[in-house]
Amino acid sequence: MSRSHFASRVSGFGTTVFSEFSALALKHGAVNLGQGFPDFEGPEEVKEAACRAIREGSNQYAPSMGARELRVAIAEHAARFYGQQVDPDTMVTVTSGATEALFDAILGLVDPGDEVIVFEPFYDSYVANIAFVGATPRYVPLRAPDALHPTWWFDGAELEAAFTPRTRLLILNTPHNPTGKVFTREELERIGTLCERHGVKVLSDEVYEHIVFAPARHVRPSTLPVLADRTVTVSSMGKTFSLTGWKIGWILAPPPLRDAVQRAHQFVSFATAAPLQSATAAALRMPDGYFQELAVRYLARREKLLHGLREAGLPAQAPEGSYFILADISRQGFPDDVAFCRHLVTQGGVAAIPPSVFYSPEHRHLGQGFARFAFCKTEAVLEEGARRLKEGLSTRRSSSSERP
Ligand code: PMP
Ligand code: GLN
Repeated sequence: MSRSHFASRVSGFGTTVFSEFSALALKHGAVNLGQGFPDFEGPEEVKEAACRAIREGSNQYAPSMGARELRVAIAEHAARFYGQQVDPDTMVTVTSGATEALFDAILGLVDPGDEVIVFEPFYDSYVANIAFVGATPRYVPLRAPDALHPTWWFDGAELEAAFTPRTRLLILNTPHNPTGKVFTREELERIGTLCERHGVKVLSDEVYEHIVFAPARHVRPSTLPVLADRTVTVSSMGKTFSLTGWKIGWILAPPPLRDAVQRAHQFVSFATAAPLQSATAAALRMPDGYFQELAVRYLARREKLLHGLREAGLPAQAPEGSYFILADISRQGFPDDVAFCRHLVTQGGVAAIPPSVFYSPEHRHLGQGFARFAFCKTEAVLEEGARRLKEGLSTRRSSSSERP
């Protein structure tokens, strides 16, 4: 038999769940509340800045670490929102989206045989990236809210037990996709203390930093003294400016960690789209009102989708941040979340994401009672989605109760 043409590092990964369900949504004419991308436009002035940069000749390679104009804007943004002092020349690297930033960080900081602690459910690229470098993920489940815990939570003892002499890195994501959890300062302190004790670095994915709902507040982990020297912060402009197709991201890190990431970045993409960097600098300098309004608008969308889900018989807790809601599907009569989401997209005209794919096999059952719905959509689309959900699920319930 001939050898597979897939290298072993990719052979275990199929097409991502996002591509799979967006394709199904298209095929079945479904309202796409699956893959998280806005169906509305980003700010006109930011798009105009990109067009201007192209017209004015910003069309050759940018410096590998990123255009200085953007690195300065990233540092100013960190000072404005988090009071953080960032040197744009030694602490910033601009990447092709947060996705590349995460991979560069893992390439630059983790050796084969190392272990990386990951909270579950996890954003799918983390575990693939860990596998690409020959390291091993160690999973710590986030537990669903219950009588004692008003939001998603983790067991401190379980986290502590995940540290071993091989642990090199811990990956955090706050606000968290897909649970919507925003880690509190106390939780971050606890995580930071363990990382300090074990000499572990932290990779903090904060792409939803501006989509947070009061009373929750985004605490940037690297602003905590215990984490400042050991944390690589990752963010991007896609969600904050509703321009997910631009793929401009960045890392912020103390100089030695920035160097490690930059060494990887220079051979992964070398540099990223020059005119879009210039426009991202303009975007990051938008007035405070832009960022406040973004959260206010998302709050209204969150309420609309929550209401629609509850009306359709899918209980759901309000997320503290991000643009996702995990709805409880455990009483819908499906064997698991994948069966539910497949049915919904093919028969019910609505696409959602089955979150069990964001768990290790050993904890997959923890995700099987939920479906992830995105609310980064216009009101009309959210309303149509809610209408279809209500109709589709109630029709199914009444037809299954009629069966002998
Ligand atoms: N991290 C998380 C948690 C995400 O949800 C996303 C969404 N795409 C990314 C990273 C990737 O961001 P980007 O599109 O900037 O690569
Ligand atoms: N972050 C987006 C989500 O969680 C999808 C990004 C992607 O398609 N890779 O839906």
